[in-house]
Amino acid sequence: MAKLYFRYGAMGSSKTANALMVDYNYKERGKTSCLVKPKIDSRDGDKIVRSRIGLESECEYLEELVRLSDDELKKYDCIIVDEAQFATRSQVEFMVHIVDDLGIPVICYGLRADFQNELFEGSKWLLAWADKIEEIKTVCWCGSGARCNARVNEKGEIVRVGEQVVLGANDKYISLCRKHFNLGMVKPED
Ligand SMILES: [Zn+2]
Repeated sequence: MAKLYFRYGAMGSSKTANALMVDYNYKERGKTSCLVKPKIDSRDGDKIVRSRIGLESECEYLEELVRLSDDELKKYDCIIVDEAQFATRSQVEFMVHIVDDLGIPVICYGLRADFQNELFEGSKWLLAWADKIEEIKTVCWCGSGARCNARVNEKGEIVRVGEQVVLGANDKYISLCRKHFNLGMVKPED
């Protein structure tokens, strides 16, 4: 039976590289997979999914996927969604439709929580409805599992206030364990 997967991880946990590898594996076996991302995530330019380690592939937008008919969707063996935290509730509902009514697996990769450690909309509904929820692990500087995404400004200071998504901003993100996220310690000497 097809399943809806949510594979979440903090910043730098190689979610996108994983998504690209799964997409590659499907295609290598002669299957037809569809790699998509929400249009809001346009930092890589148009219709490209790019990982930190240099892997990249062309993709479609999630906003286009949800406009496809059932017959158009049925040509796919698998749907792979990168940056799934930016999906809306109705887009996650559409993923459930793809899985339950068409029998096509949908594999989502994304962040669980934002820089204030609150759920993204897409993550919230994926956590509620996914059949399989799997963590892609990464570590804090202290060696503990990192599950929080700290936003830091150009001075390297942690930022606690602001919009959930700031497109084109110079802020960077550092993945931290919950303790060091709450303490605001982005590195050992702080
Ligand atoms: Zn830590």
